[in-house]
Amino acid sequence: SKFVVGLTGGIGSGKTTVANLFAAEGVCLVDADVVAREVVAPGTYGLNAIIDHFGTEILTASGELDRAKLRQRVFSDEQARQWLNQLLHPMIRQEMLLQVKNATSDYVIMVVPLLFENGLDRLVNRTLVVDISPELQISRTVKRDNVDATQVNNIIESQCSRSEKLARADDIIDNQGEISTLKQEVQALHQRYLQLSGNHNA
Ligand code: ATP
Repeated sequence: SKFVVGLTGGIGSGKTTVANLFAAEGVCLVDADVVAREVVAPGTYGLNAIIDHFGTEILTASGELDRAKLRQRVFSDEQARQWLNQLLHPMIRQEMLLQVKNATSDYVIMVVPLLFENGLDRLVNRTLVVDISPELQISRTVKRDNVDATQVNNIIESQCSRSEKLARADDIIDNQGEISTLKQEVQALHQRYLQLSGNHNA
């Protein structure tokens, strides 16, 4: 089986930035957010099941899943939320494993924002946490999304804490400095992961 590194980190920590640096080294990415959209794309079993359960009112005018409406719909309905999670979580897990299997690089980076929170660390051989201070998480996210700091802080507080993530990480990448420094850190980790995947597949 293929060697899989689970890449995680809090909101605005730099997961996408780090993942793209690994991709530039030729490493295949499997992105949980992308997969979560793929399994409910128009025409899929996933979207059809959701329409059967919630009705066509959770669709946009163009027939795509209206994620905001669906979120609203399950927000105050614990049973609906459970139903939805029981539908989606196995499909997402299965599709991620399929993409890992089909990947052509020596190892794969699986990008999962809630890796520890959702227990997906069980699917990977090694975990890599992108680490920055909560202050930087807030300032970078505010700048990127044009949202207010309180909103970002609420999300930070809903996620697994910085100290817990660091305690559970096999590897940590510090993203508090320049992108050029980050790139060097990624290149060093890439060499290490090539070595580990070589042993894994031997
Ligand atoms: P989210 O979980 O919110 O989707 P993320 O973990 O994928 O976020 P990125 O989108 O990669 O994080 O980074 C957050 C923002 O910070 C982006 O605008 C990115 O360009 C910027 N950024 C990332 N790394 C650095 C850095 N070392 N220096 C300055 N800005 C950075």
